[in-house]
Amino acid sequence: MMQNRGTVYLVGAGPGSLDLLTIKAHRLIREADVIVYDRLIGSEVLDLIPEGCIKHYVGKKESEHTLPQSEINQLLVTLAHRYKKIVRLKGGDPFVFGRGGEEVEALAEHQIPFEIVPGISSSIAAATYAGIPVTHRGVSNNFSVIAGHTCTADQLDSVNWSAFANVGTLVILMGVKNRQLIATILIEAGRDSATPVAFIENATTSCQCVYTTTLKQLCCEALEIQSPAVMVVGDVVKFHQQWQWFGSNKTRLCQVEAIG
Ligand code: SAH
Repeated sequence: MMQNRGTVYLVGAGPGSLDLLTIKAHRLIREADVIVYDRLIGSEVLDLIPEGCIKHYVGKKESEHTLPQSEINQLLVTLAHRYKKIVRLKGGDPFVFGRGGEEVEALAEHQIPFEIVPGISSSIAAATYAGIPVTHRGVSNNFSVIAGHTCTADQLDSVNWSAFANVGTLVILMGVKNRQLIATILIEAGRDSATPVAFIENATTSCQCVYTTTLKQLCCEALEIQSPAVMVVGDVVKFHQQWQWFGSNKTRLCQVEAIG
């Protein structure tokens, strides 16, 4: 019975730039019969999809869901009964806030063969592309990655903020909307209000923009930030100014456009 089923490849597409796609991901995209993909897949990566390959877009934007997760899971199971190679393409790494686990659960439950291909996660790559090391000897010897979208006033208790407020480097994904609230909570939970903060928008792409501020400033000034962006909180942010190596001219251009 298993022989009649295709294999589903859960593939991390990296943070956006084609250069950051793994060789395995590249090969699988070129060989796929069907591709099921998300919103944050770089356009250059999508251009690799061969003609004749069936494409399903199931992207999600903040709380708007093109397809609910349960239907995405079901779609993968259905496709595995019809095709041989199904690539489920996800931004960054499939297991870093990518709900990859839920898809694997559904596949396993239906005895669909699967493989998982790690991708370069924006949680590290965004900082690296802004010249910010998530750890640096003598400055930060650890980092944590959390999701900021559930940080509403009534859900505050679901996150142990005092633990996260005091990690070396705190990386926050999906935190743009709640950025001011997050800054306030971190200060209340004991983080020094002078701690530097960076936002890296559209990291690794030609539209990457980096903004730096401090927790205190973020609380009281409205800083215009567009999604998708990674928020980095910690003393390592200070390296950005000297170590910024990627797209400096374009960064300036984007900033002018973003502000103006
Ligand atoms: N699995 C993904 C994360 C999915 S959650 C990964 O490993 O990267 C989606 C969030 O990731 C976005 O809200 C944003 O915070 C971040 N993100 C993904 N790609 C990004 C990019 N190119 N630039 C900035 N942030 C990005």
